[in-house]
Amino acid sequence: MNNGRMIKAQNLRFAYNSKEILKGVDFEIKKGEMFFIVGPNGSGKSTLLKCLNGILKPKGAVFIGKDELCKLSKNEVARIMGYVPQRSEVNYLTVFDTILLGRKPHMKWGISEKDVEVVNKVIDMLGLNELAFRRLTQLSGGELQKVIIARALAQEPKIILLDEPTNNLDLKNQIEVMRILEKIVKEHGISAIITMHDLNVASLYADTIVMLKNGKIVVKGGVDVLNPENIEKVYGVKVSVVNLNGKPLVIPT
Ligand code: ADP
Ligand code: MG
Repeated sequence: MNNGRMIKAQNLRFAYNSKEILKGVDFEIKKGEMFFIVGPNGSGKSTLLKCLNGILKPKGAVFIGKDELCKLSKNEVARIMGYVPQRSEVNYLTVFDTILLGRKPHMKWGISEKDVEVVNKVIDMLGLNELAFRRLTQLSGGELQKVIIARALAQEPKIILLDEPTNNLDLKNQIEVMRILEKIVKEHGISAIITMHDLNVASLYADTIVMLKNGKIVVKGGVDVLNPENIEKVYGVKVSVVNLNGKPLVIPT
């Protein structure tokens, strides 16, 4: 796709009823890029992800490669984009069947050997083997989150959108999930768009960070945008930032 560009947002605007939430958002994301969106509660992060995957219909345009998102069918979008919402619905399906649903956009005449192979691989990768035949209703919040991430990975998307993916996870699982994501993004040249509250996790894994405030991008750049001036501008709090192994570490003061 055009010089490695995977997805482009062009002057995105969105309003719920008459309340304007996104006020002209622009960016481009490359193959293999870990792109983080941070910003205060209510700044429009989840709304932005829903505009990028077509759940919401914004003004402006989203391009996937050279195709405009609104010209693609739902199934075409599902073959390209995986989405992990901020909150997931729980039902009586098993973990295995839920992850298998991620294969649906690729299925032609039913479940193929490859579908089962991919599902098993993802289950392995996320360490879900022992939970494979549990029902979603019998999982903890963190386990459920991993299953929903697994379902999105089973989709083998070119772009993966994750809305606060580490929120329900303990430290070990946070690290595990972020490392797996980073590995997949780099090895397969996919693009990850991740919203996140924890600036220090963003600092560890981001290629690019945008700071969103009131539906506008205030700052965009490498991890060095995490400096006290920018953080005060966006969140209205004073922090210290020190350098740890070449990455900014944000410490509340
Ligand atoms: P963030 O993910 O950054 O916390 P959201 O995108 O969820 O922010 O929300 C941005 C704003 O839009 C908030 O003020 C929120 O109350 C409002 N909002 C979100 N979803 C809806 C909805 N379905 N209907 C009306 N307003 C909404
Ligand atoms: Mg949100």
